[in-house]
Amino acid sequence: MSNREDVRDDDRGPLDPSAQVPSEIPAGLDRRKFIMRGAVISAAAVMNGCTRAETERIAPPPAAASESAPVQGLAPKPAVPLAADLNVVKKGSGPVLTTVDEFYKVGPGPSSSHTIGPMRITYDFYQQAAKLPADKLATATKLQVNLFGSLSATGKGHGTERAALAGLVGKEPATVDPLFLDSLRDKPDQVFPVKLGNKSIDVSLKDVIYDATKGDFKHPNTMTVKLLAGNDVLLEQEYYSVGGGFIEWKGYTPPKKNPPTYPFRTMKELRAHADNNKTTIAKIMLANEMSIAGRSEAEVYAFIDKIINAMVATVKSGLSMSEDDVLPGPIKLHSKAASVYKRAMDDKYQADRGIGVLSAFALAASEENGRGHLVITAPTGGSAGVMPSIVYGLLEVRKVDRQKVRDGMLAAAAIGYLCKHHATLSAAEGGCQAEIGVASSMSAALAASAYDAPSLVVENAAESALEHHLGMTCDPVAGYVQVPCIERCAFGAVKAWTAYAIASNEIASRHRVGFDETVTALAETAKDMNAKYKETSEAGLAQSVTLC
Ligand code: SF4
Repeated sequence: MSNREDVRDDDRGPLDPSAQVPSEIPAGLDRRKFIMRGAVISAAAVMNGCTRAETERIAPPPAAASESAPVQGLAPKPAVPLAADLNVVKKGSGPVLTTVDEFYKVGPGPSSSHTIGPMRITYDFYQQAAKLPADKLATATKLQVNLFGSLSATGKGHGTERAALAGLVGKEPATVDPLFLDSLRDKPDQVFPVKLGNKSIDVSLKDVIYDATKGDFKHPNTMTVKLLAGNDVLLEQEYYSVGGGFIEWKGYTPPKKNPPTYPFRTMKELRAHADNNKTTIAKIMLANEMSIAGRSEAEVYAFIDKIINAMVATVKSGLSMSEDDVLPGPIKLHSKAASVYKRAMDDKYQADRGIGVLSAFALAASEENGRGHLVITAPTGGSAGVMPSIVYGLLEVRKVDRQKVRDGMLAAAAIGYLCKHHATLSAAEGGCQAEIGVASSMSAALAASAYDAPSLVVENAAESALEHHLGMTCDPVAGYVQVPCIERCAFGAVKAWTAYAIASNEIASRHRVGFDETVTALAETAKDMNAKYKETSEAGLAQSVTLC
């Protein structure tokens, strides 16, 4: 019979506190750090199946008190370099020049990079090809699209081949009838004549080829489009769908634009403009939109109204779907927006009702994305449920003044522009943190701005929402933007509201992390993230979930 002192470490259960922390505290380590290290080592031992002693042997030595991290403000922190080797649009150089009409795009779901981008690409190629000399066009025999990287790996689940074909036959994302895309899914053998000069070339889904998923591509979402005359290439272009529906091509240079009234590269500079001019981030953004794009205030607001209305429409449309509706694809996922909305409205606790209906709004818009219906990139298709839920809640439930929501849309755009400028909006580059994380951050800024929060509170809300998505991977099950994407939009919306609630109730000047620092962390995390978790469906839930 053994007494307690005789029991060896590896005979004890993992929850036995005596197994976790030895009694002697090493010199140079305070008790709190010592206990924490002991707990971490014990947890690691439980997870990796080693004894605690084996795990401790490979654990890093404890830092002495004098070696602890420098206290901010006492020692300068080395600047963390931005991820210059990410394939982001402007690589963070120069002032932000993006405009709302480039950023908020209406198009068919389910993915801005895998649906809207490819459709814009083939539509662009179709327009280029149509300009070729008539004698060249007379010899043309075939149009061919090749998809590479993530476009090839998960394109089937995103309807990339249907979107690419639609662009080739002259359809644009903002005006395409989603029923046309549905018909390509239901009748995949359809053949369409494409008129190029006097020549008519037949195209079908067979002309869109799922090519290599791995290779040395300039961007993970690479595709080529060719016009052929037999084996001769009449025109070929390599394109990149770089996230959020933005497209580039080999040799791309950003278009020349007018200088902004208030040039800024960072949130710090943007906020300085607002504070120095005793105005809001939204008003600074409005002035820049007008100067960069050469538009009047009325024109800028007219476009924003179009986007707001489209967001409201997508939530309404999603909520109106039957509770028994099943989304397209092999997951056979039931729609849940209408059920969640109805049941949440019956909740006897007001706070639970609020969280429930906000989630339902996000589910509704995101399910519309899953159906391939029209959605708005804010910033992407996968995250298309996040901002519409906040816009719908503010306008339709709380009856917030429309001008305040317009201001919120401009502040949200600033957040999206900065993330695009210094990091990425593409899950193929940065995982889900770049989609839902940025959408949540934009939505937090939208809510704060709509409620007239000072610029620092807008920044803090956006920072907080983005911070708590860092590291989030992209692993859509079966390559369909449904699981985890649809519920993830609801969580992105709720986190956005939480970020706004914290930012508007804390003492703003005590908020410890700046938005620019978190964007740097987003870029660095994107760079370090294992490629399996960047919209390839080769890891995570995409591997662990069994479809039957
Ligand atoms: S997991 Fe996130 S990033 Fe990936 S497709 Fe879904 S919503 Fe987009």
